[in-house]
Amino acid sequence: MADEADKGNEIMAEDLERRIAAARGDIPPGIEGDCELCGEWFGRLIGGACAPCRDKYGLG
Ligand SMILES: [Zn+2]
Repeated sequence: MADEADKGNEIMAEDLERRIAAARGDIPPGIEGDCELCGEWFGRLIGGACAPCRDKYGLG
């Protein structure tokens, strides 16, 4: 149970960081984490999506 709560906090912190960056108009070119589309871990996500998913879904 505690592990799940910890993971939830991590995800929230990451999401908050991204929102702050977006609000500042300063979106980092790539962050590492789990792709929001396929759920796989990638060292570089853009807009929360990995390169294969961006290709697949035409996200540029
Ligand atoms: Zn993906």
